[in-house]
Amino acid sequence: MSITKKPVAKKPGEATSKKTAQPLSSVRGMRDILPADQHYWRKAFEAAQNICDSYRFDRIETPILEETPLFVRGVGKQTDIVEKEMYSFETSGGDKVTMRPENTAAICRSYIQHGMLNLPQPVKLWYWGSMFRHERPQSGRYREFWQFGCEMLGDDDAVVDAQLALLAWKYMQSLGLDTVVHINSIGTPESRLNYRNALVAYFRPKRNRMSEDDKKRLLKNPLRLLDSKDPVIMEMKMEAPQIVDWLDESSKNHFMHVLEYLDEVGVPYQLDPFLVRGLDYYTRTVFELYEATDDQNQHQNALGGGGRYDGLIEILGGKETPAAGFSIGIDRVVSLLKNRETTPPPAEEIDVFVAQLGESGRKRALALFEELRTSGFKVAESFSKSSIKTQMDNANRMGAKWTIIIGQKEVLDGTVIIRDMDAGTQEIVDAQKMAQELKKKMIQKSAESIS
Ligand code: AMP
Repeated sequence: MSITKKPVAKKPGEATSKKTAQPLSSVRGMRDILPADQHYWRKAFEAAQNICDSYRFDRIETPILEETPLFVRGVGKQTDIVEKEMYSFETSGGDKVTMRPENTAAICRSYIQHGMLNLPQPVKLWYWGSMFRHERPQSGRYREFWQFGCEMLGDDDAVVDAQLALLAWKYMQSLGLDTVVHINSIGTPESRLNYRNALVAYFRPKRNRMSEDDKKRLLKNPLRLLDSKDPVIMEMKMEAPQIVDWLDESSKNHFMHVLEYLDEVGVPYQLDPFLVRGLDYYTRTVFELYEATDDQNQHQNALGGGGRYDGLIEILGGKETPAAGFSIGIDRVVSLLKNRETTPPPAEEIDVFVAQLGESGRKRALALFEELRTSGFKVAESFSKSSIKTQMDNANRMGAKWTIIIGQKEVLDGTVIIRDMDAGTQEIVDAQKMAQELKKKMIQKSAESIS
């Protein structure tokens, strides 16, 4: 090994130039998920993995960047997402790409691209990843946020819609979160067209009282008025025509079946005649999950949402294929988990701390650490510290049950010192037998704590 001379490193705090650089921050609406929060994120992820394994969903990961037309065609030109929220740009090679604002369109693209139509249907997939929308940042709303979602592709049976709502609800239950499913049917594109006309006829005479944005919605996408949070529109819509009265027979039957299945498995739901969801691809069933609360007036953010999208795969160039799915906003789930757990989670328990003295001790300590780690012990160290006092303080702070001490003498003798941190006693053992000795001591200690 050749060692080249490196330039002399500057001491910490030593000025590099007269001007100090301005510290940078994360991009607005995007944030770091710091170690202190990882406990909750891991909990949310493991719950997703467990429930998807038990319902036999396979994990899929798709790229963050997709071709822009995927979302323009899939999500819909006149939706808020496509009109104003996408992070789109042209690459140096001239490709028009977008950072995914949602994942359903990408999964349909993957289903078509990989010929999943030839697999037994429905194909059941789940994903976990971050999405990007250039929305106004506010509480519970970020520009990079995380979604866990499930899709069932290739089946139009109402039982699929019900199973998805059940899975989403069970996921929340498994995290101790009580939720209610708000549900509606928005029928086929044809029945929706008739309803759209009825809505325009209802709202048009009232347009003088509407904001400019809502006037635009009335013209371009009147269904979007129904999920407006503007109090004027909320009041107007009380008397508005309801989509259930415009549903075709087959959609009505489909919806009835979904509700019957939900009754059967005891999923609490609430019919919401004005729930339409913000993406164009939905057909028939749409649903959202809200935290269960007695306060009906409390304004809440949905924790997740989904529905059926029977036309999407065809819009994206595949064969006509019915499908349904949902996605859950993990940032909001984590925030609820944090609010619930008032005491921070306990730190992980450490079995053994490896302390070292001198250069030869440190070298051996590295190898001993590996030996203990691969034998299944929870091991810790402070290899960059040379003071034995500092190392013992760290071992105590981490709550290590034993400390292995190795110095020059022990290296020469082929031994190690095992210190019992509770009793304060020390013992010299053959280095070859270290792991074996520690295992014995662990068994002894846990037997003592039981008796
Ligand atoms: P959507 O399909 O747009 O309704 O999104 C599904 C879920 O993702 C929502 O119910 C939210 O929980 C979550 N979500 C959507 N947009 C954001 C955002 N900007 N920030 C945080 N979570 C979001």
